[in-house]
Amino acid sequence: MRTMEIKKGIGVSPGVAIFPATVLDAEEYRIPQRHVGAEKVRAELDRLEQALERSRSELGDLRDRASDRLGAETAAIFDFHLALLADETLLEKVREMIRRDKVTAEYAVASALRRYAKEFFRMPEYLADRVKDVYDVEKRILRQLIGQTRQSLTAQDEEVVLLAHDLTPSQTAGLQHGRVRGLATDAGGRTSHTAIVARAMGIPAVVGLNDVTAAVDVGDLVIIDGNRGVVIIDPDQATIEQHRQFERKLAEFEHSLDRLRDLPAVTMDGHEIVLLGNIEFPEEADAVIAKGGQGIGLYRTEFLYLRTETEPTEEDHYRAYREVIERMEGRPVCIRTLDLGADKYTQARSPVPERNPFLGLRSIRFCFQHLDLFKTQLRAILRASVSGDVSIMFPLINNIMELRQAKMILRDVMEDLEEEGVHVRHDVPVGMMVEVPAAALQCSQFAQEVDFFSIGTNDLIQYTLAVDRGNERVAPLFTAAHPSVIRLIKEVIRAGNRHDVGVSLCGEMGAAPEYALLLLGMGLRTFSVAPPAIPEAKKLIRSVTLENARLVARQVTSLDSDKEIANYLRDQVRQVMPEAY
Ligand code: PEP
Ligand code: MG
Repeated sequence: MRTMEIKKGIGVSPGVAIFPATVLDAEEYRIPQRHVGAEKVRAELDRLEQALERSRSELGDLRDRASDRLGAETAAIFDFHLALLADETLLEKVREMIRRDKVTAEYAVASALRRYAKEFFRMPEYLADRVKDVYDVEKRILRQLIGQTRQSLTAQDEEVVLLAHDLTPSQTAGLQHGRVRGLATDAGGRTSHTAIVARAMGIPAVVGLNDVTAAVDVGDLVIIDGNRGVVIIDPDQATIEQHRQFERKLAEFEHSLDRLRDLPAVTMDGHEIVLLGNIEFPEEADAVIAKGGQGIGLYRTEFLYLRTETEPTEEDHYRAYREVIERMEGRPVCIRTLDLGADKYTQARSPVPERNPFLGLRSIRFCFQHLDLFKTQLRAILRASVSGDVSIMFPLINNIMELRQAKMILRDVMEDLEEEGVHVRHDVPVGMMVEVPAAALQCSQFAQEVDFFSIGTNDLIQYTLAVDRGNERVAPLFTAAHPSVIRLIKEVIRAGNRHDVGVSLCGEMGAAPEYALLLLGMGLRTFSVAPPAIPEAKKLIRSVTLENARLVARQVTSLDSDKEIANYLRDQVRQVMPEAY
């Protein structure tokens, strides 16, 4: 009998889910059900021995070939793998699990080898590297065992919570088809793409749990509490009851927010604020409207890549944009050009992954090196722009030459289309994301060459503080409350206002009530947040006066540490909107 286990991570999408677990292995397949009847134990032991034998023979061949072609040193890697497969103490643990706990061979292999891998973590660094080898061996045996009987996530038919080390883009795509009601991952941070997708789907999610996949068995009952950032494995009855109650309370709070849907986003002293939604997929446009958003402030078009194995064609782009525009029925739609790279898609497809992908060939830089792909998208946006209130925005602009180059390419594409007799709009507003410190510091110059700014705090924070936004190990250091981040944002808002250039903010920061309060006080008048966050943002706006928000912003400038600022802001929000906490 197992006891309840509580794991703390980073809550990235609110809500509570209580369902049996499905665990994904690193190769995107579900590990099959773990328990077997007593009569099947013998068969499982036989399957194990056959898989071990096949793995040994595969490894023997690999070693011989490596030794011929690459020399003895490389071949030695396989010797270590073979030694693991000959380690009787380890193998006996696997067999014993099958006999004693009546579990499948897959399950016993995964559990025993992961436990074994963990022992290496505690060893000196040169040995810690061996962890990867242990995982490699685990995968090899699992491949033999699972073979043709693998189940893909898309075949999921029961409601589950999903646990994975991290989600690859194709796993994320699978999520959409499956009946996944909650998500928890070992890796990831608040603004990693997995977190963004979970929020888009409106399912509770906790990331950065380190080792949750090793602690959970397929079929275990698991609670995912996205508000508190905890995952509870095998909860007792009292804990289940308590969380069902949280669930009901959250539903009530959400229901009360629904009443705000048709009310304006206006402060108590009468200032109108524009509240827009961020989307990744065309159908999310409906959620923006349903939640009371006035338009789309950020359409992350690179998520188009999630749904196809091949390069999207101009028609694929065009269809998606037309769909969004039609669903928005005349409301503004800001289409961001492809922000591929970093943690979004290009690494997996590249023959040689980059060493520092977040500092590498991502976003607009990637587009400049893949002009066909960029022009294909621009053609589709321009064609679609005649059907609605469309604006275009370029991501990751770092210096003025990049902005000019992007605009020049846009003009070229416009001319090409005209020559072909295609009707396009000439007055499509063109803006840029301000998401690197270099751009924020030079925003007065940029303001003379764009129609609007959109502040991308997810990246701006990461690049200002040198904290990887997707790395759970440094997640506590990723904060919008750092005085330097706040100062950069203030500069951008000021420059925008001075030059009459629209400024919105589309990073996750804007969705947190305490920062929304600060940003209002700093002069921000347009917010773009994930659709589920729109009602709460509206409630905050309707609960404060600009006068008070300005006082808060002024007070923040007198504080010099992110901890003090975060605590102060939380206190202030508690006073105006106690339900938020
Ligand atoms: C950002 O960087 O803040 C942003 C909104 O863009 P993304 O999260 O897609 O990088
Ligand atoms: Mg960004």
